[in-house]
Amino acid sequence: DSLTGLLNRRAMEALLESESARSLRYQRPLSFMLVDIDHFKHVNDTWGHQVGDEVLRHVALTCLRALRISDSLGRWGGEEFLALLPETSLEEATLLAERLRLTIEQTPCHQAGQSIWVPISLGLTPFAPGQRWQETYAQADTALYQAKDQGRNRCVARKPQLTP
Ligand code: GH3
Ligand code: MG
Ligand code: MG
Repeated sequence: DSLTGLLNRRAMEALLESESARSLRYQRPLSFMLVDIDHFKHVNDTWGHQVGDEVLRHVALTCLRALRISDSLGRWGGEEFLALLPETSLEEATLLAERLRLTIEQTPCHQAGQSIWVPISLGLTPFAPGQRWQETYAQADTALYQAKDQGRNRCVARKPQLTP
């Protein structure tokens, strides 16, 4: 991704295919973590688009630092990031997510002589055998929506919902 240096959406889609196939074949845990900046539109509206871009880089780098080398992190869309966490149960992913949420909360982005506070919301779910990755992604998105709905700056983990 040219703005953040993370993987772009196309690269993430290729990894979603291969990692979900690996998880299924070898029966290994794989968790999905979606990260979305809270009220990011307000950052752009208040400080301008260029500062918004710096805030995006700041969040991207902070997320990257929180992950393992074997994890993958991509910019999925505007101010939304997707992490794929191989060999990671939902419980472990939830611990990681809560740590990341706190780190972001405690690390303002210094831009234009200001300290800009940018909380994030996170949605987590495990890949479940029998699912396509698109279904797992939709579950993570539902969890993220719940985190927003419950007041933002929080993590919501969703147990796998098996589709018949
Ligand atoms: P919520 O807490 O519900 O996620 O609110 P939000 O404001 O973060 O979400 P919304 O979807 O309303 O707005 C996202 C904003 O992100 C709008 C768009 O202009 C901005 N955005 C998307 N991509 C970029 C980018 O590359 N750079 C900058 N500066 N802004 C971007
Ligand atoms: Mg947002
Ligand atoms: Mg968004």
